[in-house]
Amino acid sequence: MGIKASNTAEVVFDNTPVPAENVLGGVGNGFKMAMQILNNGRFGMGSALTGTMRSVIKQAVDHATNRTQFGSKIDSYGAIQEKIARMSMQHYVCESMAYMVCGTMDRGYDVRHGLKFFCCIKIIQMLFFFFQSFQLEAAISKIFASESAWYVTDEAIQILGGMGYMQDAGLERVMRDLRIFRIFEGTNDILRLFVALTGRNNITMICRLLERKNYVYRLPVCRRPPKGAATRREGPHLQLWRCPG
Ligand SMILES: Cc1cc2nc3c(=O)[nH]c(=O)nc-3n(C[C@H](O)[C@H](O)[C@H](O)COP(=O)(O)OP(=O)(O)OC[C@H]3O[C@@H](n4cnc5c(N)ncnc54)[C@H](O)[C@@H]3O)c2cc1C
Repeated sequence: MGIKASNTAEVVFDNTPVPAENVLGGVGNGFKMAMQILNNGRFGMGSALTGTMRSVIKQAVDHATNRTQFGSKIDSYGAIQEKIARMSMQHYVCESMAYMVCGTMDRGYDVRHGLKFFCCIKIIQMLFFFFQSFQLEAAISKIFASESAWYVTDEAIQILGGMGYMQDAGLERVMRDLRIFRIFEGTNDILRLFVALTGRNNITMICRLLERKNYVYRLPVCRRPPKGAATRREGPHLQLWRCPG
């Protein structure tokens, strides 16, 4: 369908011996290695798609400012302005996300500087003491950027009208190329499950740990210790009190 410059082929390995010196990351760590590679790919997608969105928006704006219909340039119509505003918002969010994931990777992952874009994810992150990598951010930015780029390109075609549908405008190629981004490096459906399950598993793990150690936890907004709590422990993101007994 698209990405014609990429030579896509199926590779099959069946009982293929691998010399010990060629094993990456040690025997038994293959899955971990593969996941790290996918994380890197997903983070790059957010950045690349931001560039695609920028050029598509530029083309739509160029057209809207030059095309006259019903006696006016079409960029003077509210319906077109609304489209361009929404496209720009999606682009802005994706670009910010891409910078944030890059910054997180450059700094080395630190939960205190972690995700801030979704309230529920933020709460999950505040509870993550054991989560060491940026895989959650990479997955979220890949899902959001691939779906935003699809939306933005579709709207750009709409703004160009019939011309947008024609090969000469170039947007149909962008659309064909974009379609794979929702599928490869982990389909968006599976990544959504990953985001949800990671959050659920980590919260469950932390709750169990706290329960075992007789701690109760409160989010930062809760300043008062629970009834009967003895020792108070306070961190920037999580407040713990040990309960008697
Ligand atoms: C152009 C192209 C380039 C590619 N490049 C690479 C590459 O470089 N390296 C590489 O390793 N792979 C590559 N792939 C493979 C790609 O990563 C897979 O196609 C993709 O991960 C989906 O796997 P699948 O095709 O087996 O789909 P399936 O796993 O069969 O899934 C089919 C559908 O069912 C859904 N689904 C499956 N399981 C569940 C579930 N439990 N819950 C809900 N929904 C589910 C999926 O989301 C999808 O919509 C490439 C594919 C293409 C088309």
